[in-house]
Amino acid sequence: VLASLSTGKNGSVLVVGATGFIGKYVAEASLLDGRPTFILVRPGLLCSSKLSTIKALQDKGAIILHGLINDREGMEKILRENEIDIVISAVGGESIVDQFPLVEAMKNVGTIKRFLPSEFGHDVDRADPVEPGLRMYLEKRKVRRAIEESGVPYTYICCNSIASWPYFDNTHPSEVLPPLDQFKIYGDGSVKAYFVAGTDIGRLTIKCVDDVRAINKNVHFRPSCNLYNMNELASLWEKKIGRTLPRVTITENDLLAAAAENIIPQSVVASFTHDIFIKGCQVNFSIDGPSDVDVGILYPEETFRTLDECFTDFFLKLGDNAVDETQTKNPVHEPLPITASCG
Ligand code: NDP
Repeated sequence: VLASLSTGKNGSVLVVGATGFIGKYVAEASLLDGRPTFILVRPGLLCSSKLSTIKALQDKGAIILHGLINDREGMEKILRENEIDIVISAVGGESIVDQFPLVEAMKNVGTIKRFLPSEFGHDVDRADPVEPGLRMYLEKRKVRRAIEESGVPYTYICCNSIASWPYFDNTHPSEVLPPLDQFKIYGDGSVKAYFVAGTDIGRLTIKCVDDVRAINKNVHFRPSCNLYNMNELASLWEKKIGRTLPRVTITENDLLAAAAENIIPQSVVASFTHDIFIKGCQVNFSIDGPSDVDVGILYPEETFRTLDECFTDFFLKLGDNAVDETQTKNPVHEPLPITASCG
């Protein structure tokens, strides 16, 4: 039955942003799925970590193409010459508007079977963070409207939070271990959110790309096993490290003040943190609209890595630091100073 729902299994995939945080998971999943996988690399000098990411993807079979998505003509050529079927963009927050020329290029080429724009977070038509996060959502919404206007089939991946301790001043918190000195709890710590491992974001994204049930849909990632509030998250980490840590409250006003400072990107993250853990933007709506589909309903046989497993991974990375009760500072994460006071 699933085969008959496919738009053509193993269509060639172009991943934009594969040297980035989310794009790397997506490119790896595409290669693991055995798809012809092209990755678009920006011309110019790359730092050594990005070079090694490219090399690792190349070793797994990725074909490297050089180009910029904001170069419409160049992108048309790339899409045509390489007979690309599926385009997945994971450009970062500062490059969302670069996707307009890419949308034009896909429309002109006329053969793209699916486009997944750079979303990979909340449903931006529903969530309504304060500034400066709102600015990014307004751009993502405009990109959505341009895609819908273009007629290119699309899927919007709404995968919610990456599995990790949600630092309000860190854009890629899963690269940082949970705290060892104290927990900063947002509000009363009771608002829940969904946490998804990066590998699951990649794997389930790739499952959607040629599934007709995901055409022109928002695909929501809501694993019930990974629905946690801040208090539960703190307890989970305390169980791993075998000791309790003090909890300090970051109030709604603290987060709003951090957002109002308008320091990019930390203030953007503060505004999303406020939206998630104060306003409940991941859980305050039901996904029963005509454009909504739950990834768990699409693929009931697929399991998610649990947050418990992800926190075990973090714990294993700690080594001896894990049991050092005299330690008062988190050795791996120096929070950026904010003017807001912690109540
Ligand atoms: P990164 O900043 O880590 O990576 C961006 C990638 O896009 C890089 O590979 C960059 O190339 C590439 N890129 C940027 N502009 C262009 C362009 N014009 N042409 C070609 N390539 C370009 O992005 P993130 O992974 O942080 O963000 C990706 C998406 O995921 C965003 O929509 C973001 O909002 C979302 N996100 C969601 C998270 C969650 O918890 N749910 C967490 C983090 C992000 P180069 O290497 O040359 O810079």
